[in-house]
Amino acid sequence: MVSRVIPVEPFDLVIFGGTGDLARRKILPGLFRRFCAGQIQGDVRIIGAARAEMDTEGYRQFAAEAIAEFNQGHDCDHGEDQPASLKAFLAMLHYVVLDALGDEGWPKLKDLTRPGRIRAYYFSVAPRLFGPLAEKLHDIGMVDDKARIVVEKPFGRDLQSAKELNRAIATHFSEEQIYRIDHYLGKETVQNLMAIRFGNLLFEPLWNSQYIDHIQITVAEVVGIGTRGDYYDRAGAMRDMMQNHLMQLLCLIAMEPPAKFKPDAVRDEKLKVIRALDPVGPEDVVRGQYEGNGERPGYIHQVGNRDTKTESYVALRARVSNWRWAGTPFYLRTGKRLRERTSEIAVVFKDAPHSIFDEDSGRHSNILTIKLQPNEGIELGVTIKEPGPGGMRLVDVPLDMSFAEALGPEEADFPDAYERLIMDVIRGNQTLFMRGDEVEAAWAWTDAIIEGWKDRGEAPLTYATGSSGPDDALMLMHRDGRRWREIKA
Ligand code: NAP
Repeated sequence: MVSRVIPVEPFDLVIFGGTGDLARRKILPGLFRRFCAGQIQGDVRIIGAARAEMDTEGYRQFAAEAIAEFNQGHDCDHGEDQPASLKAFLAMLHYVVLDALGDEGWPKLKDLTRPGRIRAYYFSVAPRLFGPLAEKLHDIGMVDDKARIVVEKPFGRDLQSAKELNRAIATHFSEEQIYRIDHYLGKETVQNLMAIRFGNLLFEPLWNSQYIDHIQITVAEVVGIGTRGDYYDRAGAMRDMMQNHLMQLLCLIAMEPPAKFKPDAVRDEKLKVIRALDPVGPEDVVRGQYEGNGERPGYIHQVGNRDTKTESYVALRARVSNWRWAGTPFYLRTGKRLRERTSEIAVVFKDAPHSIFDEDSGRHSNILTIKLQPNEGIELGVTIKEPGPGGMRLVDVPLDMSFAEALGPEEADFPDAYERLIMDVIRGNQTLFMRGDEVEAAWAWTDAIIEGWKDRGEAPLTYATGSSGPDDALMLMHRDGRRWREIKA
């Protein structure tokens, strides 16, 4: 199969925070890969902007180092011509010394970007700068119909702050110009989830509480909070992961088929799911905090605060109160310092209503597993006869739809989520971006849970580094007669 790359229209992209960690690790290397793939062509300008003193040559050097460090293993399609491609890409880069809160640098930035073209402004800076940046862009006359902004997570820390952020940017940009990134939505498999659900007849008739016993969504990390302690201790797993990434995955699993695969049609359906979520009571949520293990310090030690009540793990049982999902629980968990790094969604179907096989052939149910990390792919567990002459014994085997095997290595060399999402920004396709009302509805649901913890003065339970989380999280499912899938890559 030959991969089809459709070039995007030439554009000007300003990366506010162009010297930051995200620009270095994801945005610049991602843009280079899209350039190599032939998707970025023609007269394009990519302009880094930050307060650090640097000239354009220095920024090109900075980008070259970032690409060398973070693009390892991804050869430019031009193969031998990699240095030439890099040179051509770097020639598109510019740098402007600029303070989001001051006047320095803005006239130069305005001169570099060209009205009438697609102008994308990537706010890769702290959220407190979103409002001032939007205002400045407007005041200086850099906003026209083809201008758009990209904003990063965290989009607020609760409903009120999210509303304030929405208000601040909506003063100068229409909702059609605002791209709120959740990079989970840029993953190939997440989009495949929609293709599988809505492109095949096979699954949709079974996609409801009559046939699905429950759904598990797991996002497990091996790493701890690292150097992000300050930010993380003010956020916790609920705000950092559950409110956005896991919530988005839940929406894609639970939503009704949209009439069209169009941004607002998809986002309307996702919003309905969030609004149909029941409040989560204290008995349906477990939080945890990792302990050290001799080699690695525990959470409390890392943040330097013995009294911190921030969770590095959360597991909960959610219910979507609508006709389709009444009676099917959604179990969601995410945490740091767990056994393995893995993200997956498991759709666990009900057992067959009646078994014609012997008792000792066991109970079997089909599981559709959508794997997001470390490798993307989809697996359907089916029950077959165990091969051999041992009689009618049953065994579960995976029908593995690993993309690398099915499509060939080149096809399966997917763009990173950021690459895809930035190209969508340029194309003006908002389907994979969160709308303001979606984000606010997600905060309204999570706020209630967080406030409950606060009111009850609850501290998180501890769990061992390298474990599967606190024991109480196991009980969350055990008492429903179910169990979590093993956390394994
Ligand atoms: P970072 O490494 O701290 O970089 C921040 C950038 O903003 C730097 O380039 C900094 O450069 C610039 N900056 C700070 N104050 C400024 C000002 N007043 N005017 C102009 N530029 C200013 O942060 P980051 O990790 O790249 O994250 C950027 C955003 O993405 C944050 O909202 C973060 O939450 C979000 N995010 C990051 C990641 C990630 O993997 N890093 C993942 C998800 C979301 P100067 O100090 O030189 O001005």
